[in-house]
Amino acid sequence: MAEYKCICCDEIKDSDKDCSCSTCGYKMFPTPYDRKDTLTREIKNFLAKFQVRKIEKSDISFHRLVLKKKQTEEAKEEQFDIVPKAKDDQRFPSFSKIQKNVYKADKTEKFIERLQSSLKQIRKHLHTPFKMDYKTDFAALKYRMSGLETVWVNALSELDIAIELPELTMPEIELDYSEIPDEDLLGLADELLDLLERLSTKIHKFIKHNNNY
Ligand SMILES: [Zn+2]
Repeated sequence: MAEYKCICCDEIKDSDKDCSCSTCGYKMFPTPYDRKDTLTREIKNFLAKFQVRKIEKSDISFHRLVLKKKQTEEAKEEQFDIVPKAKDDQRFPSFSKIQKNVYKADKTEKFIERLQSSLKQIRKHLHTPFKMDYKTDFAALKYRMSGLETVWVNALSELDIAIELPELTMPEIELDYSEIPDEDLLGLADELLDLLERLSTKIHKFIKHNNNY
């Protein structure tokens, strides 16, 4: 147990953890303490919550610009489509999508054909390196900071202090992104794909042989 004293009304009580004053509701601190120092520290800690010290992953997004196929005639400058990196990350369909496409085939011939062409596509995808440059977008960070800026400006205006914060400028960063096939895993993947191809050919032959159409 330590002796705690209210920062506002000087009420004293014993406690073994941080507590608030039961008379006025303000925070109590373990004694002895310097009131001015404690208040200054508390205010600094509070204000620190309105600072951005770390840029989170979610604050940044990446994209690339692709020249629009159809340019509007009256536009003076070239027009681009924005392609988010997230879209490129999804450029190859997921396993469940491939599976669904194969299973949906209503005829055996179609099923085998889709299965084999999917295996071919998967192999091609695994073997093909991918490289792309992306521009960086800090819009989410700017949005997060503008909310904090509003708090600062409003709080200071309560104290009759007018401030104008400069607009946030961020460096131009380009992401040089590449995916390279993993040589250690590629051999295993090929082996697995070979086996699947052989299995699908066998199943096809078996069905044909037994005329199970
Ligand atoms: Zn109190």
